Amino acid sequence: MAREDHKYIFVLGGVMSGVGKGVVTSSIGLLLQQKGYPVNLVKVDPYLNVDAGTMNPTEHGEVFVLKSGLETDQDMGNYERFLGRDLTNEDYMTSGMVYQTVIERERALEYGGKCVEAIPHVRDEILRRLEAAASYNGSRISVIEIGGTIGDFQNALFIDAARVMKMNYPDNVLFVMVSYLPTPGTLGEMKTKPTQSAVRELNSYGVQPDFIIARSKEPIDEKRKEKIAIACNVRRDRIISAPDISSIYEAPLNFEKDKLSDALLEALRLPEKRKASLAAWKKFATAVANQKAPEIKIAIVGKYFDTGDFVLSDAYLSVIEAIKFSAAKLNVRAKITWVNSKDFEKGAPVKMLEDYDGVIVPGGFGESGIEGKIKAIQYVREHKIPYFGLCYGMQLMVIEYARNVLKLKSAHTTEIQKNSEDPVVDMMLEQKQHIADAKYGGTMRLGVYPAELKKGTIARGAYKKAAIEERHRHRYEINYSYVKQLEGKGLVFSGTSPDGILMEIAELPRDVHPFMLATQFHPEFQARPLDPHPLFTEFLKSAATRSKKS
Ligand code: GLN
Repeated sequence: MAREDHKYIFVLGGVMSGVGKGVVTSSIGLLLQQKGYPVNLVKVDPYLNVDAGTMNPTEHGEVFVLKSGLETDQDMGNYERFLGRDLTNEDYMTSGMVYQTVIERERALEYGGKCVEAIPHVRDEILRRLEAAASYNGSRISVIEIGGTIGDFQNALFIDAARVMKMNYPDNVLFVMVSYLPTPGTLGEMKTKPTQSAVRELNSYGVQPDFIIARSKEPIDEKRKEKIAIACNVRRDRIISAPDISSIYEAPLNFEKDKLSDALLEALRLPEKRKASLAAWKKFATAVANQKAPEIKIAIVGKYFDTGDFVLSDAYLSVIEAIKFSAAKLNVRAKITWVNSKDFEKGAPVKMLEDYDGVIVPGGFGESGIEGKIKAIQYVREHKIPYFGLCYGMQLMVIEYARNVLKLKSAHTTEIQKNSEDPVVDMMLEQKQHIADAKYGGTMRLGVYPAELKKGTIARGAYKKAAIEERHRHRYEINYSYVKQLEGKGLVFSGTSPDGILMEIAELPRDVHPFMLATQFHPEFQARPLDPHPLFTEFLKSAATRSKKS
C-alpha cells in the first residue's frame, strides 16, 4: 500500500473533558478492526512530561506500561483491551517527547543554522511521528486521540498538525468530535448550543468535523440531530448518539446502532470487507453487565485513596478491568471494596477482611500505608483468605513471611529502610546507579521479561505452560540471599527469571493455603476482555469457592 493511502481519524473533544474520548477512540478501533481493517490507536498527551512514569496516579490515573516498557497514559490500556493486541512506542506521544526530539536535533545542528520554531519544526515532528505510527505493523487506519479539549492552549499544535495532514491527504483524513449535550435540571431539555460553539471554535483552527459523537445522559432525538446537522455543517447520519452506559464495553455496540462503522468506512472511501462480527464482544459485555450473577467480594488494600472516588479507581484501572474479565468468564460479579491500609495502622481491626472472599494488594511505592498492608497480608495468610499480590504486593508478602514465619523481625525493603538488618527486598543492582545519578524517569525495570514456571505449582497450573512473558515496573526485588531460607520455611518461588536469579512469582502450596500467590510483574497489563489473565481467573475461582462456603 502506498503511504498516501493510509487513513487517519482524529478524535477531538469539544465542550469539556472527561466525556469519553478514549472510549470513543477504542470503540472506533474495535469496530474498524472487526470490519477487517488493521488499525492502530494513538494517544497524544499534551503535557510536557516525556512519559507518564513521573506522574502521580492520584492526579493522572494509572501509569500503563507497554510491552516495550514505555510508561504511558491509562487510555493506552483501554486501547489495548479493546483491540486485543499490544501497541508500540509509536502509538504514544507527549508534548515533552516531541519537544525533546526537536531540541536534541537542534543541539546536533540538524536544523542547519535555522531559527527553530514551534511552527513548522515542532509541528513537523508531530507529523513525522504520526506517519511512523501509521507504517507500523501493516496498519491501514490510524485513530488518533488528541488529549484535552478544543480551545486549550496546550493541544493547539497537535490540532494544527492534524489540519496539515488533512491538507496533504484530503481524502484520507477524518475528524471526529466528541461533544457533550447537557440537560440542565431546571430546563429538563437537552441543549445543543455548547456543541455548536465547540464546532465554531474548531472551525477557527481551519478544521471541520466530519462526525459528531454526541455524549449525553439519554439518547439524542432526531430533532436535535437535525439542529446540530444544520448548525454545524455535519451530515445528519454522521451525528452519533452516545448516551451514558453502565459499562464502557457497551459503547461499540451502541455506536453500531447508529451504524457508525459503515458511516466511517464510507467517509474514508473504503469498501466494506466484511460485516463487523461482534458476537463474542457482545457476549462478554453482557456478562460484565449481568447484575444477577453471584457476587463475590474483593477487597483491594491500597493507599491511593486521598482524593475521592473518581481518582481512586483510576489509579488501579487495569487491576479493576482484569478482575472484570475473569469474573465475566466465570459468570460471577466481583464487588470491589477499597480498603485504606493506613486505617489498619491507626487501629482499625484487620479482622474486617473476614467479610471478603479475596484480598488484593496492588502495586505501590514508598512508605505510606505499608505496615497496614503487611498486617492485612498476615491476617489473610493465617486465616486462609485468598490473596493475590501485585508487585509491591509480592514484596510485602515476602516481608510478612520473613518477619512472622522466619522470625526475622527486622525484615524490610531497602526502599523504606536503607540499612535494614534483614533486607529481604533490595534494590536491583542496575538501579543503584540510576538513583545515584537522580535519573528517575523511565529507568525502572520496565516492560516485558520472560519467566519460567516450576512444575506442580499453582502458577504453572493456571498458565498451562512453562514459559511466560509479563510486564514489569519496579526498582526493587526479592533479595536472592534470602531465597533458600524462605523456601526452607515453605514459601515457593514458582516463577523465576530464566537464569533463576530474579523471583517473579511467590506462592504457598495449596495444602497450606487455598490461594496465596503474588507476582513481581503486573499481570493486569496483559489481561484482555476476550482473553482474561489466568492468574486473575485462578484467584477469583478460589474467592468464588470461599464465597459459596460462607
Ligand atoms: N515500590 C516497589 C518497587 O519499586 C514496587 C513497585 C510496584 O509495585 N510497581 O520495586
